[in-house]
Amino acid sequence: MFQPPRCPNRRCPQHHHPEPGFFVRKGFYSVLCRPVPVPRFRCKVCRRGFSRQTFRADYYDHRPDLNSKLFLCLATGIGLRQSARNLGLSRRCTEHKFHKIARHLRRLNLNLRGPLPEGSSLQFDELETYEGRRNTRPVSLPHVIDRDTRFVIWGESAPIRPHGRMSKARKLAVEQDERRFGPRKDLSRRAVERTLRRAAALVEGLPVVKLTTDEKAIYPVIARKVFGKERLEHVRVNSKLARGTWNPLFPINQSEAMARDLMGRLRRESWLVSKLRRYLDLGMQMWMAYRNYVRLRFNYDVQSAAEMLGFAPRRMTSEELITWRQDWGKESIHPLAHTGTTTVASWQARTPP
Ligand SMILES: [Zn+2]
Repeated sequence: MFQPPRCPNRRCPQHHHPEPGFFVRKGFYSVLCRPVPVPRFRCKVCRRGFSRQTFRADYYDHRPDLNSKLFLCLATGIGLRQSARNLGLSRRCTEHKFHKIARHLRRLNLNLRGPLPEGSSLQFDELETYEGRRNTRPVSLPHVIDRDTRFVIWGESAPIRPHGRMSKARKLAVEQDERRFGPRKDLSRRAVERTLRRAAALVEGLPVVKLTTDEKAIYPVIARKVFGKERLEHVRVNSKLARGTWNPLFPINQSEAMARDLMGRLRRESWLVSKLRRYLDLGMQMWMAYRNYVRLRFNYDVQSAAEMLGFAPRRMTSEELITWRQDWGKESIHPLAHTGTTTVASWQARTPP
């Protein structure tokens, strides 16, 4: 039977330090989208009413039954408009659902991870795409993976300056953009550092950090700053080397190819471009959740990447990823828990990775 883990009211003392029996049960209500009635509760301290639904990722949602289907559509290369058509939702509703699910998955991605095992090896690279207008607003997307399990640790976008061949029309377009928005900033260095810091948090306890990248000149400087000079083993590979399975950067190249295929907005010559890069970042979180928790590492495997690293007890379904809210950090209810009392922290303590 479901038990509320805390009072959902952030201003109530029972939210931060819940005591046993802080609530009373207040009956049930039925909803069309669930076969069993939803239990209601009342907090004895702040007197607020709430229900099991308050703890779910789909609270307040219209058509919550379509959330996991929409997630699968968006994480496997279908655009927002086509997903809306497929599921019979309006475009606006689809956008709202996309933002809410992606923000939820961002928290889930951060909550479920733990330290990487000894001997892990990181690979880092930058993808290039654009926001809104191809010839004037390029975007860099640094991302880092665990080489052997293909676990995508992090990726986030940054604007970069238009570069490459400048035709007359392109020069005009760049000038037009600069008049509208001011000169385009280059924030890729900051994004590279932030991305590597996400990986550094997972390898804190390791005596040696192995990192493979291409030969871009700023990588060694930032990597030494982030991981510390003493324990960093940085291998740099010439990016002119043929891109086959024998290339040391094959794992990240393959991961990029898969991201370009399954994240429609990264595809070349596609209509599915991100209008603004913050939505690209949300799409990235969706792709990470799908890649790490739902998809098998390789087609012949029986485990997902997260399962191999011990971050999840088994491969998860798209429904399981969007069950309980994840906005209380490690104190959120574990996505695979049936009652409210199993938190992410208690689950991880029970089965250390
Ligand atoms: Zn309360």
